[in-house]
Amino acid sequence: MNSRTAEQYWQATMARDSRSDGVFFLGVRSTRIYCRPSCPARRPLRRNVEFFTTQREAEQRGFRPCLRCRPNEISSGTALVQKAAALLAETDEESPRLGAIAKKLNSSVSRLRRAFVQVTGLSPRELAEALRLNRFKKLLRQGRKITDALYETGYGSASRVYERSNAQLGMTPATYQKGGKGMKLGFTITNAKLGKVLVAATERGVSAVYLGDSEVKLLAELREEYPKAEIAPARNGLEKFVKEIVSRTEGNPPRQELPLDLLATAFQRRVWQELQRIPLGKTRTYAQVARALGRPSASRAVARACATNPVSIVVPCHRVIRGDGNLAGYRWGIERKEQLLKTERVEAGAAN
Ligand SMILES: [Zn+2]
Repeated sequence: MNSRTAEQYWQATMARDSRSDGVFFLGVRSTRIYCRPSCPARRPLRRNVEFFTTQREAEQRGFRPCLRCRPNEISSGTALVQKAAALLAETDEESPRLGAIAKKLNSSVSRLRRAFVQVTGLSPRELAEALRLNRFKKLLRQGRKITDALYETGYGSASRVYERSNAQLGMTPATYQKGGKGMKLGFTITNAKLGKVLVAATERGVSAVYLGDSEVKLLAELREEYPKAEIAPARNGLEKFVKEIVSRTEGNPPRQELPLDLLATAFQRRVWQELQRIPLGKTRTYAQVARALGRPSASRAVARACATNPVSIVVPCHRVIRGDGNLAGYRWGIERKEQLLKTERVEAGAAN
């Protein structure tokens, strides 16, 4: 391992950077114990530390796994979260019993909670709510009456789901039941450096910018979001929009304003406008955005507004991270978020 890499690993160790979990392990020579970079234990002296890129390597050299950070357990929180999410998706309970889920997965409640926030940006409870909301949306699309759908998904009263849907759907169920009826969406999918980019627009403006690897999946997602909208390939290819958006994915500053046609609550609109003020190459934390909106206690609502942003890139929700520097989640994949931020930092640096 060259000294530059070792220096980076040491910086990550000092910062207890959880993004480095799984990237490397550190062995402490004085105790013969190895840890994840994010281990909460006291930081060892630099001269006692040895770095390994695999757990096996550490064990072959005679290091034992730390009992606090358990570097030998499920190497990425992602696997744990995926399994737990599947279990959560099955439960209709108002407050899912995390203890039972943790037990089934051979983990602990605190570990599970940490992994969730790390991977998805949401706590297990918030995720359970989102999942329930999804089932609710599905029932409505199948033509079920709102009252029946409410009952079947375990929502106590209509007012509560309205409350939530305002924060999470960007429209009330009554509007949503129409599934975007009357909306005419033209879409186009193009290749960019960071993958496929789907752009969909009405004649008034851009309604969706999705990022992914599979055209089929991107289109399915669009149809799921607007099941009753008229969706067809855009005749003009949306060339002007696409060119501008692709240019932004490569870290270039905006060259033209893009009109947006979005279904959003007043709060979402305020958050999304605030995000558009974050300069290229910079990031803000959820708490900073909440403070800028004059709602310092609304970090979580800000995080949800970021997670439900339908027009990635144009509304640069990828520039919002957690207070501890953790990237938090990204609807289009955490690697893409990382890549976008990296490119933007480089481009912004070059412009100065
Ligand atoms: Zn440890």
